[in-house]
Amino acid sequence: MLEINNLHATVADKPILKGLTLAINPGEIHAIMGPNGAGKSTLSYVLGGRPGYEVTGGTATLDGQDLLALAPHDRAAAGLFLGFQYPVEIPGVSNVQFLREALNAQRKARGEDPLSAGDFLRVARAQATALGLDLDMLKRPVNVGFSGGEKKRNEMVQMGIIDPKLAILDETDSGLDIDALRVVGDGINRIMRKPDKAVLLITHYQRLLDYVKPDFVHVLADGRIVRSGGAELALELEREGYGALAA
Ligand code: ADP
Ligand code: MG
Ligand code: MG
Repeated sequence: MLEINNLHATVADKPILKGLTLAINPGEIHAIMGPNGAGKSTLSYVLGGRPGYEVTGGTATLDGQDLLALAPHDRAAAGLFLGFQYPVEIPGVSNVQFLREALNAQRKARGEDPLSAGDFLRVARAQATALGLDLDMLKRPVNVGFSGGEKKRNEMVQMGIIDPKLAILDETDSGLDIDALRVVGDGINRIMRKPDKAVLLITHYQRLLDYVKPDFVHVLADGRIVRSGGAELALELEREGYGALAA
């Protein structure tokens, strides 16, 4: 589904990704772990097409389609969903407005009719309820004044509504307490653990992986995947730290 080959990218002329290769098949959940500054967030920004992140070599395809040639909104239309380490606040735009725009843009790109306000509200309410997000949060401006946990739940609501093919989730577990971690983990499993979908989880810690069991774990260090293994690799990293890998 996602095939990244020898990807190089720079930020502000500084090389960050230095030959990253990774393949993700439908039905698989992959985790990327690694020390601070390794390039984990850069990878998600590059795949999402964020301005300022320049690809200087290599390829990335989604279902055979050249992802890097697409405009960011076309990448989303192709089925890519990005969850951010720091979800943005959008004052003046209600959450429900934002979610509906996002879904209907997606449906339009897929050649489907937009959902009516009533139908959309039913979908949004069902997702919010499943994620334990207070329904009042749907009416408030996007993420404004939301706690860390509410922002992450909201992001999962968005993912549930969009129903993407591939989700790349950057430190979705950061700032979550144990209960929120379980809810978010359950949400990822419920929405994305399907034979035709895949997930790339970027995380510092093993704890999210107790809830969302990865099929593969990779270590990203200095812009490359330096080691890959199964779920046990995350436990080993937690025990021994990243330092042991560099040796
Ligand atoms: P990680 O998510 O693995 O902690 P990042 O991808 O956020 O790492 O960052 C990788 C490197 O790129 C870091 O050294 C960081 O300082 C640098 N970097 C990221 N964004 C910028 C930027 N906008 N300008 C300059 N350097 C940046
Ligand atoms: Mg970091
Ligand atoms: Mg990061």
